[in-house]
Amino acid sequence: MALTWRVHATLARSAANGPGTRFVVWAQGCTLGCAGCFNPETHGAGGDVRTVGEVAGEVLAASGIDGVTVSGGEPLEQPGALREFCGLVRPSGLGIVVLTGFARREIEADPELAAAVELADMVIAGRYNERLRLGAGLRGSSNKEYWAITDRYGPDDFAALPDAEVVISADGTIAVTGMHAWGER
Ligand code: SF4
Repeated sequence: MALTWRVHATLARSAANGPGTRFVVWAQGCTLGCAGCFNPETHGAGGDVRTVGEVAGEVLAASGIDGVTVSGGEPLEQPGALREFCGLVRPSGLGIVVLTGFARREIEADPELAAAVELADMVIAGRYNERLRLGAGLRGSSNKEYWAITDRYGPDDFAALPDAEVVISADGTIAVTGMHAWGER
């Protein structure tokens, strides 16, 4: 049976969620409860229930992208889906960035979490701390760690990203993204 994934939203092209132009997937659901979280609407258990293969197929069909970023919500609260997604995307050569509230030590201590990110290139890891908020880059707060799984990306690749990006869809929907943020107007 096809593995399903609760997804908050996707965006086919973004310049504010990692190096270059990227497809972005925001997973739905997070129980970590960081004070001051940018994305409270992603915390609930709802979202669109999609198959991992369907989401990966959209990524692989997208033109002109350099990679994919998986954010949330908390991607590692659906570790099986994240692992399968990375496995489907990886052979294409697209770079994979994962933003998570789990710290590196927590991920490394849990085989299921570790397996979920082993095919990523960069994991940005750790709880958001609003007292250590950053105005640039993708970490959100300075305690979060750039954990390079491969040598494809380094911290400098994330330093000059725009703070926010406004995307206007063909149906008139306006999305504001960047810095772990997602909103629709
Ligand atoms: S900042 Fe990320 S990990 Fe923390 S509560 Fe918000 S979605 Fe969850």
